[in-house]
Amino acid sequence: MNETSRPLIYDLHSHTTASDGLLSPRQLVERAVEYHIDVLAITDHDTVDGLDEARRAISELQLPLALINGVEVSTVWENHEIHIVGLGVDTANAGLRDFLGRQSASRRLRAEMIADRLEKARIPGALEGALRIADGGAITRGHFARYLVECGRATTIAGVFKNYLARGKTGYVPPQWCTIKQAIDVIHHSGGQAILAHPGRYRLSTKWLKRLLAYFAECGGDGMEVAQCQQAPNERNQLAQFARQYGLLASQGSDFHQPCPWIELGRNLRLPPDVTPVWQQWAPPVLIEESEA
Ligand code: AMP
Ligand code: MN
Ligand code: MN
Ligand code: MN
Repeated sequence: MNETSRPLIYDLHSHTTASDGLLSPRQLVERAVEYHIDVLAITDHDTVDGLDEARRAISELQLPLALINGVEVSTVWENHEIHIVGLGVDTANAGLRDFLGRQSASRRLRAEMIADRLEKARIPGALEGALRIADGGAITRGHFARYLVECGRATTIAGVFKNYLARGKTGYVPPQWCTIKQAIDVIHHSGGQAILAHPGRYRLSTKWLKRLLAYFAECGGDGMEVAQCQQAPNERNQLAQFARQYGLLASQGSDFHQPCPWIELGRNLRLPPDVTPVWQQWAPPVLIEESEA
């Protein structure tokens, strides 16, 4: 039971070493408690592999934290890469497992193609390097970026994206992900809610963003992220207005990948008062009380 009167802090978007996060699932849940998160969703890219370790750690360490089973699914829509977060999925669901197996095969294939392109640009060994850094987790462009920094091709991760991995650059491979509809359906069939991730980050004009939201809602999508750590001053209110307009629930999440000065678990996550939070219909979280010292 939550005995304090403060409202619960929800962070419903985060990453671990199961994909391109830097903290292990255990380290992430420990950090979440340090930062006073009450309800955390781990939403790795196209995998649910971090959740078991996180849940085990919460139980072993008796952490006062509710964990939501999440996943961030990569989709392609009108030639844009759109991310759909699934919240509350049943990780044992056979349809979900098959689907994530196919996404993982697409990731592997794309990684091989990225490496081929880099090799032609005289950067050898990128597949092996990225796989080594991914260390068994879902292989992402983030791992290629770290490899290229490691071998001195750029000084920062952002620099690698800008010069090698962004659309139109040497190592860019057009995405072969599933459709938005397929992502929503598989999330629903495994008992979850489908949330459009970071709508402000796709570099869409207002006209195209509205098109995306209308399509997402028409496909049965449940909600959209409204609050993130870092947003332009009016973005949150604008997104809240869209959530109301398209009949979508509102979610919030840091998209935490690693400790850094700009993004932190739970930071600056508040929803405007005039939206319906995605957790409104959830059962109240059962939090283990911190034992009295
Ligand atoms: P992927 O799903 O393999 O295409 O990788 C996408 C991930 O790369 C995103 O979730 C981010 O974590 C990371 N990413 C994308 N663009 C950038 C960027 N400009 N700088 C740093 N990380 C990025
Ligand atoms: Mn990422
Ligand atoms: Mn994303
Ligand atoms: Mn993310």
